[in-house]
Amino acid sequence: MTVWQLDVTFASGTLAGVTDGMPLIAKVATSVSKTAAALSRAAGRGDGSVIGGWIGLKIDPDLLAHLASGRAVALVSGTNGKTTTTRLTAAAVGVLGRVATNSFGANMPTGHTSALAKEGHTPFAVLEVDEHYLPQVIDQTRPKVVALLNLSRDQLDRAKEVAMMAQLWKTTLAGHPDIRVVANADDPMVVWAASSSPQTTWFSAGQRWHDDSFVCPESGHPIERSGGDWWCTGCPLRRPRPQWVVEDEGVIDPRGDWHLVKLQLPGRVNIGNAATALAVAGEFGVRPIEALPRLSRVASIAGRYAQVDRDGRNIRLLLAKNPASWLEAFDMADQAPTLLSINARDPDGLDTSWLYDVDFSPLRDRPVLITGDRAFDLAVRLQVNHVPFRHVNSFDEALRSVPPGRLEVIANYTAFQDIRAELDRVN
Ligand SMILES: [Zn+2]
Repeated sequence: MTVWQLDVTFASGTLAGVTDGMPLIAKVATSVSKTAAALSRAAGRGDGSVIGGWIGLKIDPDLLAHLASGRAVALVSGTNGKTTTTRLTAAAVGVLGRVATNSFGANMPTGHTSALAKEGHTPFAVLEVDEHYLPQVIDQTRPKVVALLNLSRDQLDRAKEVAMMAQLWKTTLAGHPDIRVVANADDPMVVWAASSSPQTTWFSAGQRWHDDSFVCPESGHPIERSGGDWWCTGCPLRRPRPQWVVEDEGVIDPRGDWHLVKLQLPGRVNIGNAATALAVAGEFGVRPIEALPRLSRVASIAGRYAQVDRDGRNIRLLLAKNPASWLEAFDMADQAPTLLSINARDPDGLDTSWLYDVDFSPLRDRPVLITGDRAFDLAVRLQVNHVPFRHVNSFDEALRSVPPGRLEVIANYTAFQDIRAELDRVN
């Protein structure tokens, strides 16, 4: 009870702007949520975005809806690239005014609640949403725009889950014809999911990973591909003509104008993410020429792509959490010594058989080092692909065994966290 009393006084001060017009319970929930997040940060328990939202929603189950009301909201969902695309989209929409966003990748309703409570009243919100929670978050936040990036399996062979997710999205969007959908024309699963929406803007950002979309989700027939095009061999489902297209180092807008995209983030994958951000921002009336300078200022995202200098080595961190994102990481990494680190702890998935779904041959012509709990699974996999490698026992040993210059580090989830922690200790 003490905490509640503390927070009602808090609410009468700084929170007046965000909670105006809200029911009392929502005001109380908002302030308790903010205080819990602040306490959690003060106690050194992370950024508080989960605990704050969790407590707020316990007090007022409709808190997310209350906080979202009055804002123009964009949601970003998909298996890969959503944290980066959300950050780029928030930067682009920022042309128009202040944007609330869940920049720490806390992408479930607790994280959204916390992000909106923390930012106070903003005219705009751009939220990254876990694929499974998209229907619920659409219902609660009544977004103006929903961006659908891609659907692929996470670690294991869960192609069935991919189809179920596409079905879930499709049903949800059919119930919300007022939402503007911005969707990836290159992913058959996404195209099918978005086909139930009457208002779709298509972008083409490429699809490197095809293994989870070779069967048509509508008719079960094989999907054929040629160049960038694809079509179902048994029903009318086929690639729609995109309005936003990645071409060379830039993006073509719906008017046919090409814009050079200069990013600090590596790889063609991120030009695709920028194209998506421009398409979403376009739905809010932002022109590429206004948004592009803001995109070019985005450097690292929740530690990803971070570059750290140590002992004359420039270390760049790339996170690869599932088969599709390993292929993307190979695309982003420079032709330089590369450290691969694999764990198989709970958040990574305990089974490493997915390694056989990824083609490691792009790494053949560079020095490759391996480490992590499951380095030896990786060793076997690399041998099959004829990629020479060296095993090292630690990140430090890796650092000492490469010449000065760039060291690319590609790691899965907990391996990435381990290396980040090690770098933070010294810096
Ligand atoms: Zn079909």
